[in-house]
Amino acid sequence: MPPANTRLPLIPYPRSAVLTGGTCALNKATRVLFESGPHDLASWAAPMLDLLRRGTGLALPIAPALSGPTHTSITVGHLDGQPAEAYTLEITEAGVVLRAGDREGLIWGLQTLRQLLPAEVERPLPRVAADPGRPDGNLRPRPADWLPPPGKPSPWPTATLGEDAGGQGRGQRNAASAAAATAAQPAPHPVWSLPCLQIADQPRYAWRGLLLDSCRHFQQVAAIERLIDLMSLHKLNRLHWHLTEDQGWRLEIKTRPLLTEVGAWRLDSDGVRYGGFYTQEEARHVVAYAAARGITVVPEIELPGHCRAALAAYPELSCRGIALPVETAWGVFPDIYCAGNDAVFSFLEEVLTEVLDLFPSPFIHLGGDECPPDRWSECPRCRERMAREGLRDADELRGWFVRQIATWLAERGRRAIGWDEVLAGELAAGTIVQSWRGFAGATEARRRGHDAIVSPISHVYLDQDVAQVGLETVLGFEPEDPRGESASLAGSAGRTLGGEMCVWTEWIPQAVLDERVFPRACGGSEALWSPPPSGGARRRDVAEFRARLVNHSQRLRALGVAGLQASRL
Ligand SMILES: [Zn+2]
Repeated sequence: MPPANTRLPLIPYPRSAVLTGGTCALNKATRVLFESGPHDLASWAAPMLDLLRRGTGLALPIAPALSGPTHTSITVGHLDGQPAEAYTLEITEAGVVLRAGDREGLIWGLQTLRQLLPAEVERPLPRVAADPGRPDGNLRPRPADWLPPPGKPSPWPTATLGEDAGGQGRGQRNAASAAAATAAQPAPHPVWSLPCLQIADQPRYAWRGLLLDSCRHFQQVAAIERLIDLMSLHKLNRLHWHLTEDQGWRLEIKTRPLLTEVGAWRLDSDGVRYGGFYTQEEARHVVAYAAARGITVVPEIELPGHCRAALAAYPELSCRGIALPVETAWGVFPDIYCAGNDAVFSFLEEVLTEVLDLFPSPFIHLGGDECPPDRWSECPRCRERMAREGLRDADELRGWFVRQIATWLAERGRRAIGWDEVLAGELAAGTIVQSWRGFAGATEARRRGHDAIVSPISHVYLDQDVAQVGLETVLGFEPEDPRGESASLAGSAGRTLGGEMCVWTEWIPQAVLDERVFPRACGGSEALWSPPPSGGARRRDVAEFRARLVNHSQRLRALGVAGLQASRL
């Protein structure tokens, strides 16, 4: 590995990168050439090429290269025999040659090329409303005596007027200053310079996720597109979309219209009707937008708990059958789906049939967490179910419940994911366990032959204050238990697929998403993509990473990402 001062300004850092000396200039004469082969490379590259065209102001036509020393080319070709998502990038004075074996690898290679260009290549991402869940789109007014709960971020942006915060709390002013900035922009650079180099890159982990909770606070589609763009820039490849909760059901289900007519809306404590949902058309758009940027959208439909919004719409699916409003407080609530009522399973299968149609993801998240036993132990139908199925307690009943749906998914070619509480019961074959209460759930899952996704509160919950989960903690995240579980599990059938950063939004309206996610997600992308600490080191070189991050933050600021004050880097 070269000394820190020769490291390239890339996040996450590639597996192998060697500077070879000299530069390559992209200019008006630069052409793009796609080699023929088994895949439609041009369509895979189209969104990223458009982005480079807009950023550089160059036409970058798809055409054979012209001859002559100033006529550089970008050649895109196939790469065989490499792992998923791998790419190679070679830059010489004559041009750029990018090779990849799949769409994701091609996109990651183009993202690396983008990061090698100066920050001036970036154009601001569209701004979004402060909180689209409120009728006026603005943030809830801040009470005069309000202080954030201990350990929780403020739902109001920390930046003051005139700073680089996103959000539309300052809507008119932002629009005006953005227009002024556009008008003041100099003409595009005639020449964009790249360093000559050779990169061979592939991810450390296949699962590099980010969870977005769209239930506690609602985000508009434009805000999700913005997050997807920023995830793709960092080679994060799984958007875990938390769509159903106690406080809101956010996905249109055509056979069950009350889920969104009733379940998408709550009466908040200040008397405002809060909510929103995604139409099926919008969900399909998000899936396609993400796929074009290398990202799989993994929907989460929570069961058997965290379903008060669904029960508000269809009270007959609960044990008591009584009408309850969509929940407005945060926490864990006793009313859940009745495990003894066959209609509950018909309902869930109807919902999931539409979900499978919308989301081609091989993975569907079923939740399975925080499911109190109170109602089930009092419910005659649930007790009868337990007796009939030979289940001893509510934990076993929960396991049975999740297993029914996971098996149903498996019969349709999809794999269920559950939070680590699902380990209390027997798991359906192929179920993936997401370990959030530390690392032990992942160890146990692997011991039992199941794959694991690791997302411990202690390391990657980005709703935690930076005092608890700081940039250094996220950068230092090692999905495999640092206490050496790997060795003891040699020969186990279960694998660690990777890790996932979680953005639960109880205290995070979309106006503050930027500063909750960044710059910590930059550290998380390095942890999940880049090779582990080298040379026997147990930790990554934080100072070296910070030096790259300071450089990288210019790019993020140019994109309009808020919360990148020097003190936070
Ligand atoms: Zn029941």
